[in-house]
Amino acid sequence: MVSRSRFHHSTPGEFANYISSNVTCPANQVSSLLPSNKNRSLLVHSLVSALGILSEVASNGQKYFRVLRPRRASLRELLAYHTRDYLEYALNPSRNHEDQTQVAEFGLEDDCPPFHNMHEYIHLVAGATLTAVGAIKEGSCDVAICWDGGRHHAQKTQASGFCYVADCALAILSLKRAVPLSIPHRKPRVMYLDLDLHFSDAVSQAFHSVNSTVASQVLTLSIHHTSAGFFPVSSLSTLPNPDDPSFDPYTLSLPLKPGASNQTFARIWPIVEGIRGIFNPDFIVLQCGVDGLAGDPMATWNWSLGGPGSLGWCVERIVHEWPGKKLLLGGGGYNSANAARAWAFLTSVAVSPPLPLDTPIPDHRAFPLYQPSFTLDVPAGNMQDQNSEEYLQDVETHYERVQAILQRISSEAPL
Ligand SMILES: [Zn+2]
Repeated sequence: MVSRSRFHHSTPGEFANYISSNVTCPANQVSSLLPSNKNRSLLVHSLVSALGILSEVASNGQKYFRVLRPRRASLRELLAYHTRDYLEYALNPSRNHEDQTQVAEFGLEDDCPPFHNMHEYIHLVAGATLTAVGAIKEGSCDVAICWDGGRHHAQKTQASGFCYVADCALAILSLKRAVPLSIPHRKPRVMYLDLDLHFSDAVSQAFHSVNSTVASQVLTLSIHHTSAGFFPVSSLSTLPNPDDPSFDPYTLSLPLKPGASNQTFARIWPIVEGIRGIFNPDFIVLQCGVDGLAGDPMATWNWSLGGPGSLGWCVERIVHEWPGKKLLLGGGGYNSANAARAWAFLTSVAVSPPLPLDTPIPDHRAFPLYQPSFTLDVPAGNMQDQNSEEYLQDVETHYERVQAILQRISSEAPL
């Protein structure tokens, strides 16, 4: 157990003040402008604030949380991943959106339309995640949270899948350059674990290497749904196969079938723990997309917030039982009230003990949106779990080979 942990909560725009002073959200809160998730950020931070989680005080009188005002990411920082061409276009508020060739080239169409203050959004969401990363690297906290981050589909050269800036990749690149915490003279290791319903295509691709015979500083593991036509299409989103020439034991994927429930997650969790144990990361970047929860419009999984195998159960294990510093990021989640419930609950998981799931939603401006339950819980629905025993055994078989290979590379070529 982590005791007397200190936490940083990093939010773009004016939310640092908003959360700490419990006043009305400023209208220019940039993260709430994200076209795919309008006002979601406002709901999340309103609920966290209304529940009083950030004012938790430990028995020694110290506050568990420190709310940080994020800085803007600089162009130079954004260039660590994105191309100059994409940034010069996306960050120029006077760009001409009439030019369909450029709009298409940079992915700023369809599910990623340009929007008012998009340039500020890119600077501040990346800046918020990097502010959280900075707090971890300087050692002033054990866990840092940025629910507005977790944009795992943004590509080097273009926006994609509701994601305009690749804060996950930028965070990993920055953590790779941190002073190692646990073992001196060892390069820091970063594990990226993605719990979003969708495959972390851009992050996985960014750190994928076909030269799998040497140890890597970064391991990515995405647990997601994939099927024909389901976004995103990627050759990396299937079960890892060591016989495939492009196999990389540090780029891992664990696809689950429709209806994935707490029971299925509890079943696969030893695989996740096993990978972590072999890789032994100094830093864990956890993408907590909540579009796999029951009640999400994606209607693909049937995951819930509490109980063995739930999202809350997984995050509690990672935060309190895994060694290393943790960065918690947001991601997908298209039932905004449920996203707010989930991220508020996970914020309380970070300080522990977590809020009871039957906690009433406090009276605040967004209160009516939490009907009909008006409680914190996101319970499972009645969708059938199609992850059969046969399929889960197949997953285990694949991962036994992956773990053996990872173990061998780790022992042969320590960093
Ligand atoms: Zn998603």
